[in-house]
Amino acid sequence: MTHTTLSAETKASLALTDNHGRTVNYLRVSITDRCNLRCMYCWSADGMQFIPHDNIITYEEIARLVDLSVEMGVSKVRLTGGEPFARRNCLDLIEMLLKKHPDLDLRLTTNATLMNGKAKALADLGVRHINISLDTFERKKFQSITGRDMLRSVTRSIDECLASGLKVKINTVALKGVNNDELPVFVNFAKNNPVDVRFIEFMPMGSCSTWNESNFWSADDIFEEASKLAVLTKLEKGERRSGPAKLFGIEGGKGRLGFITPMSNHFCSSCNRLRITANGMLRTCLFSDSEIDLRTMLRNTSITDADIANVMREANVGKPLGVELLKAKKQNEVALKRMNAIGG
Ligand code: SAM
Repeated sequence: MTHTTLSAETKASLALTDNHGRTVNYLRVSITDRCNLRCMYCWSADGMQFIPHDNIITYEEIARLVDLSVEMGVSKVRLTGGEPFARRNCLDLIEMLLKKHPDLDLRLTTNATLMNGKAKALADLGVRHINISLDTFERKKFQSITGRDMLRSVTRSIDECLASGLKVKINTVALKGVNNDELPVFVNFAKNNPVDVRFIEFMPMGSCSTWNESNFWSADDIFEEASKLAVLTKLEKGERRSGPAKLFGIEGGKGRLGFITPMSNHFCSSCNRLRITANGMLRTCLFSDSEIDLRTMLRNTSITDADIANVMREANVGKPLGVELLKAKKQNEVALKRMNAIGG
């Protein structure tokens, strides 16, 4: 039975509702912590410890968690990483999930360097939205940010996604001293293409972060500078927000500009998401390092689906307001775990 066919009473009893009155309908799954890029804000030069293969959540385990989550009212799932296309047969997982849940809003977040030629297959499987991370349009700078000379593959993937009818969002980590000089290029890109270009404030993540105050480029500053380059227009009420992003139209443009402000303006009160990390831990809040070990439960044959669903529901009841955790932190660090295992 799907969630949509249940009575309102049953739905309410299954729902992932928390102590702050928020209801989760969105699950983010990091399907691997491996990535082919070495982004300066994600990668540690002093050696990166990857999760041993046996501890990586399997596709079958992901599918089981998605089944349970859909029962509890989740309607949107994002596959992320690490790099989702760095995991073998990633399309098989997508097919498995969408075959079972054709109405699921299944999305991906990718660096788009390994997906040339795959956009049409994604669209044919039923994927409608894709987020592509891109911090620069300059080949040399791309190489210095990511450690790889692969900008051309990304721009090709963007073209292929648009040609296949996928809705594309570009995620750009705002890095003062690194890509702020390219703001006119990003604004023009959003003007000339039907894409949302979203600037994400740089967060201090994990012990490997290169975060420092002088690199921080706030959304307010970006908005002010972008407003000098184009007329940014207020959107209709229902379109002003897309998840955590605040969106603006561009006069005479095809796309939109967005701002994601985890540091300067929190969106915790409307948070509707849970995360599954690459090693199968449930994380109720990006800013909280407290995790529930679902992988061990999934691998214990005496633990039932109902047991796991109950653990997820109970964990979610205590889902914190991340902003309060952030304020209480002594160190300027959003989370101890690295972004590649959490999935952004
Ligand atoms: N490999 C995929 C990609 O590049 O999109 C998915 C994983 S990546 C960790 C998810 C998102 O997190 C990317 O958009 C990335 O730019 C962003 N990200 C990683 N570290 C970040 C940080 N310290 N602050 C802000 N965003 C960050």
